[in-house]
Amino acid sequence: MKSRGELKSAGRVIIKIGSRLLAEDTDARVAVLAAETRALRDRGVDVVIVTSGAIALGWRRLGYPEKPRTIPGLQAAAAVGQGHLIHAWQTALGAHGLAAGQVLLTHDDVRNRRRYLNARLAFSELLRAGAVPVVNENDTVSVDEIKFGDNDRLAALCTSLIEADALVILTDVDGLYDGDPASGAKLIPEVRDIDKEAVAVAGSGSTGGFGTGGMASKVQAAKIAGRFGVVTIVASGRRERPVTSILDGGDAGTVFWPSVSRLQSRKHWIAYALKPAGSLVVDAGAKKALVDGKKSLLPSGIRRIEGRFGAGDPVRVVDESGAEFARGLCAFDADEVEKIAGRRSSEVAALLGYAAAEEVIHRDDLVLL
Ligand code: GLU
Repeated sequence: MKSRGELKSAGRVIIKIGSRLLAEDTDARVAVLAAETRALRDRGVDVVIVTSGAIALGWRRLGYPEKPRTIPGLQAAAAVGQGHLIHAWQTALGAHGLAAGQVLLTHDDVRNRRRYLNARLAFSELLRAGAVPVVNENDTVSVDEIKFGDNDRLAALCTSLIEADALVILTDVDGLYDGDPASGAKLIPEVRDIDKEAVAVAGSGSTGGFGTGGMASKVQAAKIAGRFGVVTIVASGRRERPVTSILDGGDAGTVFWPSVSRLQSRKHWIAYALKPAGSLVVDAGAKKALVDGKKSLLPSGIRRIEGRFGAGDPVRVVDESGAEFARGLCAFDADEVEKIAGRRSSEVAALLGYAAAEEVIHRDDLVLL
């Protein structure tokens, strides 16, 4: 897709709605979006909703004076709030004859390939059966290393899980501005190169204590979705039928067009779903072979390693200045790589004491960033 007119062809859409919008008046907001979901379904569009708001809806009900700052406090708030959140969605979607299917994910569900494929089956069956998957992070059990961090990222990773055509992030501003909206900045209607046109202006984006996102995380989400070939639209959820008007080619929001290099699902998963366990620092020759020559990474170009990782774990590939330029699955564990780094492929078997593949990261397991 390259122009707003083409958005009409989107057959499967993820709608992400943020805490700040939902916390204001949950039932009313959810009702409006449920009505729009019905209308979208009636024109043949599959809808998956990624909803924040569990923590925002939970903490007051626990009698906390403010949004908790501790992990157990956030977990408890999410446990209480998620029930209210899904109830609101079930009621509102049910009023339109739609079943809401609650899907709570942790980062483990996309990091572990088996669980990822399993989650994919669940989504596809929910959609086949005509239900509306209503997704949130499983905040009650998600801590640090199994956390997505924010629902913008969660929604972006879901684009590959459900093979979405578009991701619509509804928020409380009209889109991405070229500066501070309070001092006359203008809305950017379209972004074609996220790194050049969006990252600098997105800033850190305060969220006013409701969600965890801000504009910077929306831009990152657009980048992840874009590498999967999926268009992202960031728009105000306060407008009437925001998703329908966007799919009809209206001029609301900021559209982030996908980058040209669409990654296959597996490579996308390697690049963005996994959290690297360590780094391989490579010399300039190896970098050139990977970037220009589209080659696999061989032991000879590796200068040193950082971190501990097992065979098959995801690792960063960084150049000698420390800049990461690729990610991949390392065929060897950290001890093995230490032994063979800088050596010729023909020496590998003797160094390790057993026969092994000559690629430290095979081309098929490598993604240039
Ligand atoms: N998963 C969190 C919640 O439902 C929200 C995360 C976010 O705001 O991005 O409360």
